[in-house]
Amino acid sequence: MTYRGRFAPSPTGPLHFGSLVAAVGSYLYARQAGGEWLLRIEDLDSPREVPGSADSIIRTLDTLGFEWTGSILRQSSRRDAYEAATQRLLNNEQAFHCSCTRSELQAAQSSEVRLFDTDELRYPGWCRLGPRAPERKTAVRLFVTRGETAVTDLLQGRFTVDVSAEVGDFVIRRRDGLHAYQLAVVIDDAFQGITAVVRGADLLHSTPRQVILHRMLNLVVPDYAHLPVVTDANGIKLSKSAGAAAIDIDRPTGEVWRALEFLQQAPPPELRRAGLATLWEWAIKHWQPKRLNGQRQATIRVGREDG
Ligand code: GLU
Repeated sequence: MTYRGRFAPSPTGPLHFGSLVAAVGSYLYARQAGGEWLLRIEDLDSPREVPGSADSIIRTLDTLGFEWTGSILRQSSRRDAYEAATQRLLNNEQAFHCSCTRSELQAAQSSEVRLFDTDELRYPGWCRLGPRAPERKTAVRLFVTRGETAVTDLLQGRFTVDVSAEVGDFVIRRRDGLHAYQLAVVIDDAFQGITAVVRGADLLHSTPRQVILHRMLNLVVPDYAHLPVVTDANGIKLSKSAGAAAIDIDRPTGEVWRALEFLQQAPPPELRRAGLATLWEWAIKHWQPKRLNGQRQATIRVGREDG
């Protein structure tokens, strides 16, 4: 089977160093395996989208020498597929309508610890037998059965979450009608034939939810590898929305070199001044992801060295 990897940025700002690391890691896995690397713009959450950032991300990736297979998939064009899956899960009684509001859920759990990677609250199951306030707009939630879901991550090892205890029945279509990231990512990874999902470890905690959805929809579960997340000196994740430094496209080789250094590949310093093609050739040949085993985050200086 051909290896198929992907990079799936959300257009919430220009490409920053944290997402460049995910792009480089997923690209090197795919290229070293002689496989394909696909690009998907996750422009599902239109309220959070920053106009122009999808084009800017694509231009930056192109300038940095990334080569992707086929055309770019945009999630905004895929709503029918997400809705078809939602209806299928509802018809099979694997999902249900929920009228609870965020403030109701918050009030019920104000004393509970929030999940570390999401602002989603653990759902107490109130609408499992039917929406408590059917006159309201409803969200659609997946019925999550009890028990642990395990993922064997290529870098992080075995990772287990009891989704029912930690998250509960999670949202697949929001009350505003937008399909949730968890659903869309599963439908699209399957649609694009992705065999390995390589991304930042901030999404490790979401992975068991995605595995549950793959199984419920009878889709093949891909391999997963979660790369260390880039944090600033205070241990805070770099994020586009928090205005993290964009990539300097006037120094493409230096930026790719920095990402390789962050990924523990020890690129030879002289390659900082080599051409991009030479650096990529070296990186594909020498890619050793095992150097990252078990590492979930690492710090970089946000500033760059000259040269
Ligand atoms: N769109 C997500 C992001 O930009 C990545 C999703 C994924 O790789 O599964 O953070």
